[in-house]
Order: sequence, then structure tokens, then C-alpha cells
Amino acid sequence: MGEFELIERFFTRAPRRSPLGVGDDCALLQPRPGMQLAVSSDMLVEGRHFLSTADPRRLGHKALAVNLSDLAACGAEPLAFTLALALPGADEAWLGAFAEGLLALADAHGCELVGGDTTRGPLCIGITVFGEVPAGGALLRSGARPGDDLWVSGTLGDARLALEAFRGTVSLPQPVFEAARLRMEQPSPRVALGMALRGIANAAIDISDGLLGDLGHVLRRSAVGATVDADAAAALLGARALGWPAPPEAMRDLVLAGGDDYELAFAAPPDARAAVEAAGRTTGTPVTRIGRIDAEAGLRIVDAQGVPLGRDWQGFDHFR
Ligand code: ADP
Ligand code: MG
Repeated sequence: MGEFELIERFFTRAPRRSPLGVGDDCALLQPRPGMQLAVSSDMLVEGRHFLSTADPRRLGHKALAVNLSDLAACGAEPLAFTLALALPGADEAWLGAFAEGLLALADAHGCELVGGDTTRGPLCIGITVFGEVPAGGALLRSGARPGDDLWVSGTLGDARLALEAFRGTVSLPQPVFEAARLRMEQPSPRVALGMALRGIANAAIDISDGLLGDLGHVLRRSAVGATVDADAAAALLGARALGWPAPPEAMRDLVLAGGDDYELAFAAPPDARAAVEAAGRTTGTPVTRIGRIDAEAGLRIVDAQGVPLGRDWQGFDHFR
């Protein structure tokens, strides 16, 4: 199977929202009047971001999910994406399953595949997503204000727990492992919540490298600090709800520094609490308050009693 047959078979579908999709030198996008384009790229590299044994359907899902998560963090509505694919060979079963996982998530979000590039090489998946957001209405990392509440969506830490189980550093009961593995392999980008938080949240980020590491980006860009209740955060470990008797220290580590969560962390003024909760309800996304934004720079981690935990947490850093 040649390059063009491969593109035709697995990655070409009639565009619906975009004026021009796969097949020409460029695709054409038409944002609605008054909207800005939000653009983001994320790359998944075998051995770095996933194992060679990864299920191709789930990999297709995840490759797009991590990109949609960036749109979610900006409050943008998905519009279209491009796919740059390096493949060691044209394995039809693999390609079929990969495309299925990818395009099922794309359809669920009305996000069209409009182009890309295909080449032979070590397996690598690069996606660029395009979304729409009302001009001036994007949620940014830079908008957090002292006094804001600090919120997170969903559950945290389970993707990292699954990774640790794969590495053999922890042993999990089968149902807990399966649930955690699903969080690692098939994250749910919080697109609807991000859009619902427009005009409510002052700042947002999606959590890919660990809550504290990513929160650090918000604090730097907003020139503020924060206090985080480690116990309120630790309660968000999904495995705990499944009865996994995690040691408290391990739970804090997983939730605060785990990574690969693809939940949203966001800051909103206290008088917007009811609006935040309504946004969570209408989009079917749990939202939890885990701290506050301070004028004083730096990150203070405290326990449920407000006692500082004297430890240094760091987000997962690819080059460490
Ligand atoms: P060019 O030589 O102009 O870069 P290509 O020959 O690489 O174009 O690709 C032909 C068409 O197929 C283009 O419209 C391109 O966007 C699309 N395309 C290539 N690879 C993919 C892919 N993996 N998924 C979707 N579309 C793709
Ligand atoms: Mg090309």
C-alpha cells in the first residue's frame, strides 16, 4: 500500500464544517464571524509517551485527546485537526484500529481531520488542532488573581498509578488496575467544561505534566502564588473511590505530581462558586475546590488543617 492509498483509505472523509479537507495542498478553515482560531500541537513519540505494545485504537484516541485537552484549557470549541504520522510500515490492522479510535473521538467533538503528512519512520504521531473561541474570550494561564479559588476537574493521579503498575512499582487489584489503565490510555478531554467556564474562570490550564508543575505555569504567567490543600487534592484519586487502600503519602504524590491526567486546573473568583458548580453540573464534570490564589509568590502545600507540608514536589519533566 502506497502513501496516497493509505491516506485515502484511512484518513480521508468528506469535510462537513470546513470548506476544504484532505487532498489539496492546504485545507481551508472558516471560523465564524467574531471568533478567533485557537491552535495547538502535541506530539506522541513511541517509547517516550506510549509503549510499543499500546493498543492502536486507544492510541488514536489519546493522540487526539491530549490535543483537545489544550483547546479545553482555552475554552475553545474544536473545529478541525491535522495529523502528521511517521510509521515504520503500513500495517493495515494497526492503521484501521488507530484511525477508528482517532476518528471516533473526533466525531464525538465535531472535530474534522482536514490534512496532514505521512512518512516512513519510527512511530510518531503529531497532531495540530484548531478551535474557535469568541475574540478576546479565551481562557489563559495569565489571568489568575489573588483571592481566586483554585479548582480542578474530575479525578487525578490514576494515569500515573497505572504507569507505576506497568513499571511494577505497585501492585493493584484487577478492577483498580483496569480503571486506572483506562485513565492513562483513554483520557477524556474536558472540552465542554472549558467552554462553559468562559467568562467565569480567570485562568485555566490542562494538567498534563502533573498538577503542581502545571499550576506553576499559571502562577508564573499570572505573577501570583497559591496555597494548595494536599488532602483535598489527594481525595481526587479515582482508585481511592474503588477502595484501593493507598498510603496517604503515595496518594498525595500521585495526585500532585502524577501527570497524564488531562483534567483542567482553573482559577475563579469566590463570587463565581455557584457559576463554576453549575458549569460542572451542566457538562457532567465533577469540579472540586483545592486551594486559593495568593498575592505572595510561590506554592504552599498544606494539609487539611492548613499545616504546611515541607516537601518539594515537581511536575514530570521530560528532560530530567
Ligand atoms: P504535500 O506534498 O502537498 O505536502 P502530501 O502529498 O503530503 O501533500 O499529502 C496529500 C494530501 O493528503 C494533503 O491534502 C495532506 O494534507 C493529506 N494528508 C497527508 N497525510 C495525511 C494524514 N496522515 N492524515 C490526513 N491527511 C493527510
Ligand atoms: Mg507532504
